[in-house]
Amino acid sequence: MEKNKIEIRNPATLEKIAELSPATAEDVAQAVNQARQAQAVWQEMSFGARAKTLYRFRDLLIDHQDQIADILTAETGKPRAEAYGNELFYVCDAIGFWAKNAARYLKPERLRPHLFKTKKVVSSYSPLGVVGIISPWNFPLALTVGESIPALMAGNAVVIKPSELTPLSALFGAQLAAKAGFPANLFQVLVGTGETGELLIAHVDMISFTGSVATGKKVLIRAAERLIPVTLELGGKDPMIVLQDADLERAANACVWGALMNSGQVCTSIERVYVEEAVYPHFVEMVVKKVQSLRQGPSDGEVELGSMTSEAQLKKVESQVEEALRKGAKLLTGGRRKANSQGLYYEPTVLVDVNHEMAIVQEETFGPVIPIMKVKDRDEAVRLANDSRYGLDGSIFTRDKKSAWDMAEKISAGSVCINDCLVNFVIPEAPMGGIKESGLGRRHGIEGIRKYCRQKTIVMDRLGLKSEFSWFPTTNRKINLFRRALRLFFRSGWRNKLSAPDRTR
Ligand code: NAD
Repeated sequence: MEKNKIEIRNPATLEKIAELSPATAEDVAQAVNQARQAQAVWQEMSFGARAKTLYRFRDLLIDHQDQIADILTAETGKPRAEAYGNELFYVCDAIGFWAKNAARYLKPERLRPHLFKTKKVVSSYSPLGVVGIISPWNFPLALTVGESIPALMAGNAVVIKPSELTPLSALFGAQLAAKAGFPANLFQVLVGTGETGELLIAHVDMISFTGSVATGKKVLIRAAERLIPVTLELGGKDPMIVLQDADLERAANACVWGALMNSGQVCTSIERVYVEEAVYPHFVEMVVKKVQSLRQGPSDGEVELGSMTSEAQLKKVESQVEEALRKGAKLLTGGRRKANSQGLYYEPTVLVDVNHEMAIVQEETFGPVIPIMKVKDRDEAVRLANDSRYGLDGSIFTRDKKSAWDMAEKISAGSVCINDCLVNFVIPEAPMGGIKESGLGRRHGIEGIRKYCRQKTIVMDRLGLKSEFSWFPTTNRKINLFRRALRLFFRSGWRNKLSAPDRTR
């Protein structure tokens, strides 16, 4: 490999599929400059005209769906079904959703002041300028192109820095965007490592970051130096709670899919499971049976699991499982790299007898591992679910809907699913994001587009008097009126308002 080149390998075969040059400091500065010029044109276009361009882009994505699926599976090792069903479906749906709703979400709002009735107050939203999007490798299309859709509909240009492991889907997306008729350079992709990400932060007007907690903190520090807005969508260690009255078949199916989809490399994957003791043995048996029936292999076949995407992540999974076993966990299935396979395959794994002293329960695993714990009752389940530095998502399975809502309120997470899992991510109306170390800000919902805007308030006087009561000159009469008004408006109780002694005298 040439020095400084970035080599892209198919993780399912380890075969080299591309070699790319990272963007230099000059490339980054120039890209943002050019994006700024394009943005000036784009911002003047109506929501309807922007939506039309996005629909043309969507048609191109659909026309090229097989090519995109080829690229996605080659750079991630994920099953082909997930390339269509998760990534492409998400992006195409996002285009329709934001194209339809952006104008409504960003409509100037007339506000009614409770005191200053003679003022007209309007709050409006305008684009920030150039948005930098820095993305991880687990969803190389959804978290690059998909994340850019609300930013574009709000009138911004975007410059994306995809993961150095998986830049090809975003690059192809940019090629299609150029054909769709966006102003030239409105939508750009820069290849590079974290260094390129840092350079990007130095130029753009906002950063939308998705990735690990450790990198998220660095991004926040860099952005703070320039005082630009940031959203951080970071890691998770999402708990699943199964109560004894749950529909166990649905819960077990959800557990296996929610923990193992995309080989567990999903920020909202189920990463730890708490089961009430009455149903624990049966639930564990069901989960193990289902896990053992899954097919894992090359992305083109009818397989549920592909390879993992990153060697470093696979090593992290191995070390967490080894540590858990050393500390007394019991392995019920999996627990090793897939035999006779060149690629980054790790067998789907179920562990029991795990506890909160183990990294497999405390740290994000981001791999195909299901650690299951027995709990006495729902209170213990909630207490353990909240014993985490993360707070992204969570799920509760029970037929008792009332207590499920009560428990959901008590779970420390940005979102909770009841008798479901992961689904909140694909409901674009629903704000999604973390608390604690899982991040700052929200994607989706009204916040998911307003975060890409500058909010401005305009206040206009409607009466046109020559002066206002609070303006100069200051007189004793005004002072006394203010003192009386303070008592009248804010002192509790009518008698006190009218007759309480004035202690300031
Ligand atoms: P990562 O933090 O290593 O990298 C993410 C991106 O940041 C990459 O593009 C990387 O090149 C870039 N980067 C690295 N150092 C940087 C720096 N100093 N400044 C600017 N950019 C820098 O994460 P990853 O390993 O690619 O992705 C996995 C992580 O992403 C997991 O923790 C997962 O939970 C998280 N994730 C979160 C969500 C969510 O919505 N909350 C979604 C998907 C993934």
